[in-house]
Amino acid sequence: MSEKVNAAVRIAPQTTEFREYDMPEIEDDAALLKVEVAGICGTDVKFYSKPPFEGPCIMGHENIGYIAKAGKTFQKRRGLKEGDLVFAEHYVGCMDCEFCHAGEYRLCMFTDWRKFPEGLRFGYTLAERAPHLFGGFAEYMYLPWNSILHKVPDGLSPELAGVVTPMANGIQWALFDCGVGYDSRVLIQGPGQQGLCNTIASKQAGASLIVVTGTSKDVKRLNVAKNLGADVVINVEEEDPLEKIMEVTSGEGMDVALDCTAGAGTIPVLLGIEALKRKGGTLQIQGEDVPDFPNFPLGKIGNKYITVKAARGHNFLSCELALKQLNSDRFDIGQITTHKFGLKDTHSAINAVGGSGEVIHVSLMPWS
Ligand SMILES: [Zn+2]
Ligand SMILES: [Zn+2]
Repeated sequence: MSEKVNAAVRIAPQTTEFREYDMPEIEDDAALLKVEVAGICGTDVKFYSKPPFEGPCIMGHENIGYIAKAGKTFQKRRGLKEGDLVFAEHYVGCMDCEFCHAGEYRLCMFTDWRKFPEGLRFGYTLAERAPHLFGGFAEYMYLPWNSILHKVPDGLSPELAGVVTPMANGIQWALFDCGVGYDSRVLIQGPGQQGLCNTIASKQAGASLIVVTGTSKDVKRLNVAKNLGADVVINVEEEDPLEKIMEVTSGEGMDVALDCTAGAGTIPVLLGIEALKRKGGTLQIQGEDVPDFPNFPLGKIGNKYITVKAARGHNFLSCELALKQLNSDRFDIGQITTHKFGLKDTHSAINAVGGSGEVIHVSLMPWS
């Protein structure tokens, strides 16, 4: 009898079924990942309730694990061997387009699962597709030749390395996309794992003023934001955020406004536009959940000469820098990794994210 791999499979909205798959044969140019930590983010919460496509799917797109088996060609090409701890990006690139060559796998057609279903993306691929193990909510994950892998630095635990995705997004959005640097004034809306990692990235880059907003359920998270370097935190249910921002900037406003909220609709965009400085600020938007925006203040974007940037994951370099950042002891990342669940508790683990204000980052650990 062949060896089996346990996986938590999303089969319908809010429904997980445990299935066993055959341990896959590993081709010469491929490898097998023993999943240690699958981080859970707001996207999982959204897609667990409203699956983006029909059919069974092993979710889990923020995956850290040990190389359990590796083909000879894989080892030679990738410089990785069995026993190495790696972060596997959820993008699996074509490796041949202009974006892949630039390390911008997030923009490759092959990773655009909405428009290109033949593409492959960990956590977003039908479980029917052989060899099935294309998500982190499972004991093992199959790594094809074109997986994007980062070696986890020595000394960094799998659980802390599990924060790499939000950290990479923080570096990508705040630094690379919005140009946060020395003396920048940054507004970060939403103190979840994403907002907190943008706080760390902005602080590390030299921002002189970091303002983080949240609601009454975020009291603990706003506190953590302060500990990680926010200069001002605002509970928008208790204080007028725009008034407060103008007060702490002597009426000048912010250089950059980042939206790290979930399900807040058009509000963060409107506040961001108002809170930005008189001319030349940068507004980062999420957009996915706000397909229509009646009365969008386009005139103000023009008048204030605002640059609008869409948040779209992370590139190769931001992942490398994120792992370095997590491995430094400059910021206490332990304040972010608040909850751990085993594979059997996948359903509760997903629903825990965005549930209570106590939860910041959830690690699904299939072997615990
Ligand atoms: Zn995610
Ligand atoms: Zn490509």
